[in-house]
Amino acid sequence: MAYARPGQADSLVRFAPRYENFIGGKWVPPVQGEYLDDVSPVDGRVFTRVARSSEADVDLAVTAARDAFPAWSATSPGERANVLLRVADRVESALERLAVAESWENGKPIREALGADLPLAIDHFRYFASAIRAQEGSISQVERDLVAYHFREPLGVVAQIIPWNFPLLLTAWKLAPALAAGNCVVLKPAEQTPASVLLFVELVADLLPDGVVNVVNGYGPEAGRALAVHPGIAKIAFTGETSTGQLIMRYAAENILPVTLELGGKSPNIFLPDVFAADDEFAAKAVEGFVMFALNQGEVCTCPSRALVHESIWDEFMDRAVRRTGELVLGDPLDPATQVGAQASAEQLAKILSYLELGREEGAEVLVGGGRRTVPGLEDGYYVEPTIFSGDNRMRIFQEEIFGPVVSATRFSDVDEAVRIANDTQYGLGAGVWSRDGNTAHRLARSVEAGRVWVNCYHAYPAHAAFGGYKRSGFGREGHVSTLGHYQQTKSVVVSYDTRPT
Ligand code: NAD
Repeated sequence: MAYARPGQADSLVRFAPRYENFIGGKWVPPVQGEYLDDVSPVDGRVFTRVARSSEADVDLAVTAARDAFPAWSATSPGERANVLLRVADRVESALERLAVAESWENGKPIREALGADLPLAIDHFRYFASAIRAQEGSISQVERDLVAYHFREPLGVVAQIIPWNFPLLLTAWKLAPALAAGNCVVLKPAEQTPASVLLFVELVADLLPDGVVNVVNGYGPEAGRALAVHPGIAKIAFTGETSTGQLIMRYAAENILPVTLELGGKSPNIFLPDVFAADDEFAAKAVEGFVMFALNQGEVCTCPSRALVHESIWDEFMDRAVRRTGELVLGDPLDPATQVGAQASAEQLAKILSYLELGREEGAEVLVGGGRRTVPGLEDGYYVEPTIFSGDNRMRIFQEEIFGPVVSATRFSDVDEAVRIANDTQYGLGAGVWSRDGNTAHRLARSVEAGRVWVNCYHAYPAHAAFGGYKRSGFGREGHVSTLGHYQQTKSVVVSYDTRPT
């Protein structure tokens, strides 16, 4: 049975009519008194309003974070780890409520929010609680009695700007390593999905010293830009579109700041001929891997949006892929049976529909799907049929990020051609390789220009595997202990114990 919708009497979630910014441990109204509408893509209606921040609000948040930094950065790794563990426990205790909120605000199926987004977010806090305690410095022996100690120090106030496709998971990806390393944070959620992040903050506010985490809401060119150019910040961690990432780099240049960028993708998923060689279980798993293009309605930076299928298995493989795609249950995101929910916004819906048009104009063949879908009772929601195009890698639908439940499939004849097609893109975020032959899979995994390659699986995001892009998909990594390095700077203290005069 579907979860009750926010606003219904028996819903787990009651959104306030209006949300302020969270600054210095308090809810602070925007200085200019303006608010923006938060629309649910499930039914296309406004369900709350959120502060529309300006430079003045950002300034308050950065000041609060700077005030909190001396005390927070002086805490021990063990103290910070304990805070992160308490945050994880608190989120776990409210898992269903947060899942309903996120599903309502973003349109993602509740089964994904419950089964993936929230458990992964919780695990991220726990992982970095452990990672910071396990991190060690180093000592170099320069000469017999001359040593250099290396300390890892936090940077200061970190600006974190996130998109709308995984509001809570990306909040965890950003906050956990930054806080573990001893930084204070000013976070700007996407204007399309601020409320679930604000519910999270409300939930954990009493666990964090005032000012350690601050949230300013608003539009990118207003609040986001003001944050990125603020002279009080020490780093920008950004996730979003490649074109916005370019702007972020320019802003960062003003104050000579380090940046990490998690940007767009056009990830190839490569199916070798031996996918169908022996037992049928493996083939079924590979077909499920193909169908993952519709996960989160395709609004995933690593969406396997290009499928490269060997010509010898094309007919059989695509028959099965089309059949499975047609079976995906599209509907009310709050129904646990739903596998494909609503696209996150009206703009995103329009963008996806324009690419469906473009694909046809370019001469690609629609194998299944291809249009908008109306869900009974949710007629104003933003639903798109999972769609498979067959075409050529030079088409724009193979080259540009659609960020919808759309995969562009093409054939290849040998491994070299697969590598060539896979790498014929400006992006380098994710890739998938499906084969029973370990050597071939390894060769492909090493040859594809992507920061994350899955072999015989897809869309797994363990906290202990580094994630990030090559090429125009950005730089820097999230997850994995090495991410701590992005939130720290190194101090070396060179000490002489030599008592002889030099
Ligand atoms: P976007 O770049 O439009 O917005 C992302 C964030 O940046 C939002 O908070 C927005 O308000 C802010 N922003 C926009 N303009 C800004 C500006 N001029 N200055 C400062 N901030 C600004 O991206 P989106 O449409 O929200 O998200 C979708 C994109 O995110 C896709 O390209 C997707 O691939 C990418 N993404 C990447 C990853 C990854 O880990 N690589 C993960 C998720 C999403």
